[in-house]
Amino acid sequence: MAELTLRVCALYPDLMNIYADRGNLTVFERRCAWRGIGFELAGAGIGDAIDPDAHDLFYIGGGQDRDQALCARDLASVKREALHAAAGRGAVVFAVCGGHQLLGHGYELEHERLPGVGLVDLDTRREAGPRLLGNIAIALALPGGPATLAGFENHAGRTYLGAGTAPLGRVLEGNGNNGADGTEGVRGGPYGTVIGTYIHGPLLPKNTGFADWLTATALAIPTAALSPLDDALEAAAHAEAARAAGL
Ligand code: GLN
Repeated sequence: MAELTLRVCALYPDLMNIYADRGNLTVFERRCAWRGIGFELAGAGIGDAIDPDAHDLFYIGGGQDRDQALCARDLASVKREALHAAAGRGAVVFAVCGGHQLLGHGYELEHERLPGVGLVDLDTRREAGPRLLGNIAIALALPGGPATLAGFENHAGRTYLGAGTAPLGRVLEGNGNNGADGTEGVRGGPYGTVIGTYIHGPLLPKNTGFADWLTATALAIPTAALSPLDDALEAAAHAEAARAAGL
């Protein structure tokens, strides 16, 4: 697969990197290297224009409300059109927690409303009540993807999906989008390649099968076309989680 190259663009890599979410990028890089797939990483900060055709996967990590406030207007103005064009040709937009919260219409805070980038039909708001905090496991139904994801969540915002909008998965343990409706994350866009989730860990070191699903989707190849790597430890952990959840 030497001719393949995964081209990743990290949006706001300094501001949106809570819980070392940038570690997700290291997983893409390492797994590409182990398979002989090329890997290119670009970064785009506030004010930077992005080329929708120059990257296969756009990544946004999590962030505190104050850092999200710095990014939200830029995301919804400077980068909006390019991200819609990228999703419109099947590129992956992958967003964690604070990034997930900004994928939809907006994020309602106590004294202001942050705009969203409008890629999917969801809305996020701060509500009275505790932070949604702790370990989380979800069940997925992704063709060629893993059956479960596991990680950690810590968010005050609650996300609500629009009526026709698919979640990324269903909560097995933990809170997910809002602690009430059992949904976790989002999967949308014209090709189902706009992916949001509240799960940190960082997510991908604990969920290598999902890293592969994202990589294959971004490269527009089947997951099965990626050469196998030694994921025995991850597989054993997931098998145990699935057994405990009665899956
Ligand atoms: N600032 C957001 C919230 O608290 C997201 C936090 C995060 O990315 N962990 O809801």
